[in-house]
Amino acid sequence: MTPPAGGATHLECTWTGERYESERLQTLSAAGRPLFARYDLDALAERFRPQDLVGRPADLWRYAEVLPVRDPACRVGLGEGWTPLLEAPRLAERMGVGRVWVKDEGQNPTGSFKARGLGLAVSRALELGATELALPSAGNAGSAAAAYGAAAGLPVHVVVPRDTPAPILAEIRALGADLRLLDGLITDCGAVVREGVERYGWFDLSTLKEPYRVEGKKTMGYELFEQLGGRLPDVIVYPTGGGTGLIGMWKAFDEMEGLGWIGPERPRMISVQAAGCAPMVRAWEAGAETAEPWRDAATYASGLRVPAAVGDFLILRAVRASGGAAVAVPDADMAEWVEIVGSATGVFCAPEGGAVAAAVPVLRERGLAGDADEVVLFNTGSGLKYVGMTPQE
Ligand SMILES: *Cc1c(COP(=O)(O)O)cnc(C)c1O
Repeated sequence: MTPPAGGATHLECTWTGERYESERLQTLSAAGRPLFARYDLDALAERFRPQDLVGRPADLWRYAEVLPVRDPACRVGLGEGWTPLLEAPRLAERMGVGRVWVKDEGQNPTGSFKARGLGLAVSRALELGATELALPSAGNAGSAAAAYGAAAGLPVHVVVPRDTPAPILAEIRALGADLRLLDGLITDCGAVVREGVERYGWFDLSTLKEPYRVEGKKTMGYELFEQLGGRLPDVIVYPTGGGTGLIGMWKAFDEMEGLGWIGPERPRMISVQAAGCAPMVRAWEAGAETAEPWRDAATYASGLRVPAAVGDFLILRAVRASGGAAVAVPDADMAEWVEIVGSATGVFCAPEGGAVAAAVPVLRERGLAGDADEVVLFNTGSGLKYVGMTPQE
């Protein structure tokens, strides 16, 4: 059964609330802040209920009513989403919490949850007439963009740090993108993309600088609700770089409340960063509304090597409103927990997934995860993409 057509009513500035037209290509708001797609949730509440999802395809397009793509022919799909939520009783016992699940995003196309965001962003860029795409990346967003660009038949320019994991570089090349290597970090790569935008009219798919990657990532929130049988866990532990995953799930929960699927209660949102690059943790601890850029960012979890995020205030708001926390984890702990999770569950995590598991003992100590709590750990990528990378510091 093909899900019905979707479509937003408008876009809204996340800083000022100003309205923007959704049916043309958009980037940041006039205030330089991310735009969110808004839907007519009151009308949808009448005709989009959890039971309507039964029998739909096992991918993220099952949530079409709350996705921005209007024409089903513009859905560029490689099988993204509907990843397994694996219960891990031996991990729960070891961690001293009630129940633990691993949401294994490593099973997405291109081996990371970036497929969700880039699947939506490329579909929407296609629908709205973009002809050439570009993005700076720490690695996985680049390979996901390359894959969806190839599937859509659109050229993609990817700019990444030279020391991005080799399997990811090979993947980007094999998927036909124009790959550019830079001595620097993702923020430096962003400057190269901005130049291409000005000179050649590339459409910039940078995270949260166009409105739709977050729409793909939010489907993780809908999936958790569905896969847990119509409820949410007590705690969600998420590795945060640009923050789109955490911000997206938080948005999904608000939408689900608007649809009447859940009440006002929310899971505690835990943002996990690398000790060698922890701008959100520093801002959270300081009680700041936005984050200062992190200097000399270093971690082998390349997805977490993001010194500054345009959505910083959205991450911090979600963490605070949920009663959660932001936690930093050293590389050595990530590596150790990759092995603990691997041998306890059968999932070979990315270092980012190891980071999330390594944060749980810290949460226990701080009273943020208790022995009756249900905890979902996000493994955002496959460990195979990082083979040959070693912990830093
Ligand atoms: C990009 C990435 C992250 C960070 O995700 P954000 O949603 O940008 O915070 C975490 N893990 C992996 C494997 C990634 O590729």
